[in-house]
Amino acid sequence: MKEILLIKNGEIALKGLNRSTFEDVLVKNIRRRLKSLGNFSFQKAQSTIYITPQEDDIDLDEACERLKKVFGIAAFSRALVVEKDFDSIKNGVLDYLSEILSDAKTFKVNAKRSDKKFPMTSPEITRELGGFILSNFHHIKVDVHEPEVIVTAEVRDFAAYVSAKKIEGAGGMPVGSSGKATLLVSGGIDSPVAGYMMAKRGLELSAVHFVSPPYTSDRARQKVETLCEELCDYCGKISFYCVPFTKLQEAIKENCPEELFTIIMRRLMMKIAQKIAANIDSGALITGESVAQVASQTLPAIACTDAVCDIPVFRPVIGMDKAEIIKIAKKIGTFETSILPYDDCCTVFTPKHPKTKPKLDYVERSEALFDFDPLIEEAVQNTECVLIRPNH
Ligand code: ATP
Ligand code: MG
Repeated sequence: MKEILLIKNGEIALKGLNRSTFEDVLVKNIRRRLKSLGNFSFQKAQSTIYITPQEDDIDLDEACERLKKVFGIAAFSRALVVEKDFDSIKNGVLDYLSEILSDAKTFKVNAKRSDKKFPMTSPEITRELGGFILSNFHHIKVDVHEPEVIVTAEVRDFAAYVSAKKIEGAGGMPVGSSGKATLLVSGGIDSPVAGYMMAKRGLELSAVHFVSPPYTSDRARQKVETLCEELCDYCGKISFYCVPFTKLQEAIKENCPEELFTIIMRRLMMKIAQKIAANIDSGALITGESVAQVASQTLPAIACTDAVCDIPVFRPVIGMDKAEIIKIAKKIGTFETSILPYDDCCTVFTPKHPKTKPKLDYVERSEALFDFDPLIEEAVQNTECVLIRPNH
């Protein structure tokens, strides 16, 4: 019995002349994700990617689990490969689907014939195969509106395929097909979700994390690396940049008005993140900010932060409630790590009364009380980079 995985690429199918480039990125990403499971061959035809295992003992259940997390896949199915004749299709249904059909009360047949040389039309295949199933499984009925099982029989270029399970994919665009962006990742709930959302739009992520030892612990940094590792299942590998931020935070504390501490800190974070992004040809920053969530996320505060940015800053969770963000964090598996109780550098020296409506000229004047540039350079120089890969 020969099984295959058939991938339907979603939005990519709408890409006209560029489609093939997007498909190539998708195939490359899938290849990488499945590599450790064994050898597969890949073919592209008719907006479908055919993935054929080249060894008998490949764990296809695990392959399907991994495919569910690859962006650019709208849906996929695990199918039996049969000869292109109707008897083989019928035998395939008996061999491959008898368990699922025995357990179901209702079904319908969905037939597709893209090889027009095949002698039966799609409606004919549907009708005949439906009759065949009814005569072999006496308890089951046809329900064309809400069937428990949809039996798909596809007659395509290379062979015919029989399947009963269409599995929902992660959607979006293949990671890397939209360029690169740099995620400012904290140990919180929001920024990993923000990274996930932009990777879904096809951006390859790098991550920047600021640490302030001895105020923040090694375990806090480790937690953020774990979060990135969890994101890797969706985003592929992530270059993780860990920036020593203590001297800058101490300098702000000593030289700037306390009420502006957070806003100046955020501006310095953006400046440093942009320098790192420029070095690795990354075209945008991503943050987990959400309007009104905390004092540094009011409109005037965001405007002051944006004023130091020369590249676009994406804030995909900007309009979401915490509850909505948490729902995604749980779905993608970062939530449990995010709620581990280690201090982030943002919680070091937080002002008692942060300014919620900072004026840009006041912020700029206060920031100019100290020359941060040498410390910024030093922080960039002393940044450590680790390549974080999926866990298998
Ligand atoms: P999160 O849940 O992502 O930590 P938050 O609601 O706690 O967000 P803030 O602490 O104000 O909000 O941080 C806002 C954004 O700033 C974060 O989403 C993240 O993008 C960035 N950020 C905060 N702390 C750090 C850090 N230590 N390193 C890198 N980026 C950070
Ligand atoms: Mg935070």
